[in-house]
Amino acid sequence: MKNIFDYSYSSLEKEMIALNQKSFRAKQIYSWIYKKGVYNFDLMSDINKSFIETLKENYSTSLIDVEVMQESKDGTVKCLFKLEDGEKVEGVLMHYVYGYSVCVSSQVGCNMSCAFCASGLLKKKRNLKTSEMIAQVLYFDSYLKKKGKSVTHVVIMGTGEPFDNYDNVLEFVKTLNCPYGLDIGARHITISTCGIVPKILQFADEKLQVNLAISLHASTNELRNILMPINKTYPLEELIPAVMEYEKKSNRQVTFEYILIKKINDSMVDCKNLRDLIYPTHGYVNLIPYNPVIENGYERSDNKIVNRFHNYLLDNGIKSTIRKEFGSDIDAACGQLRAKHEKK
Ligand code: SAH
Repeated sequence: MKNIFDYSYSSLEKEMIALNQKSFRAKQIYSWIYKKGVYNFDLMSDINKSFIETLKENYSTSLIDVEVMQESKDGTVKCLFKLEDGEKVEGVLMHYVYGYSVCVSSQVGCNMSCAFCASGLLKKKRNLKTSEMIAQVLYFDSYLKKKGKSVTHVVIMGTGEPFDNYDNVLEFVKTLNCPYGLDIGARHITISTCGIVPKILQFADEKLQVNLAISLHASTNELRNILMPINKTYPLEELIPAVMEYEKKSNRQVTFEYILIKKINDSMVDCKNLRDLIYPTHGYVNLIPYNPVIENGYERSDNKIVNRFHNYLLDNGIKSTIRKEFGSDIDAACGQLRAKHEKK
């Protein structure tokens, strides 16, 4: 059976037309499920009985089960969700001064094999469906609704490479953004990619105003090949021009994520190379204190080094921020919670 949460608004309109209905049915359904939180077709009182039966025959409204939930002292909530086929993925809710942000997983496992990342410890088993990404957001939204709040931001930075699941991620983003549904502004949505160049270029043509973040983490091919094997396929001399092309077409500034790992990518030479590499772009750098993963032996850089990196970039014409950390008392780093539970 199809899942109603798999459809962006325009896709649902097409579905309705295929069922010999007027397209406004999509608006009615969106309003019930996303605005009113009603997932039972029988309660959709402005839809006639016979079409309700058709909906029930064709679509499920099932969401997601929670296997583990951890609440941090700082308000971060991390969940291990169980999918219909028994696979597990993580999602995280974070409380910022500007609102509530959900970090969504886009795949079960990941094939990108970044050396520092816990997600890649488990290879990709499959892509998540749009409905499985929506379900993560709706879970945290209903958690917040009990406190009179709601999800205001979504970052696709959980397990998985979103551009390796392009079509479903795009439907997901369109669904989040739809004014008849959750109505999360495009500028409140961030897609983070390890740098799949053809998809960055394709994404530029979608003309969406969502934020694009590029996981850079190294400023030379030599080091990036080691930390992020995707660089062997799409090296920096292809990645940076693709980013510039994206900026030109979308008129948006890109974020470069740079994890600082002790004695690996945190020297002043690394910093100068980074500055020179991205200077031609309009991008800014989000410096991320590394969240250690026991399995790989990497350590986080000292605060002094992080600050030196930050100041050098600022002094040399690159906007830069240091990422705020959440959930240090729970398994909030990418893939840590699932990895722990798979091993049991
Ligand atoms: N595949 C996508 C999105 C998932 S990772 C990507 O590569 O961007 C989201 C971000 O978290 C990436 O920048 C990733 O490099 C970073 N990350 C992964 N493991 C981390 C860790 N242990 N500590 C800090 N950041 C980490």
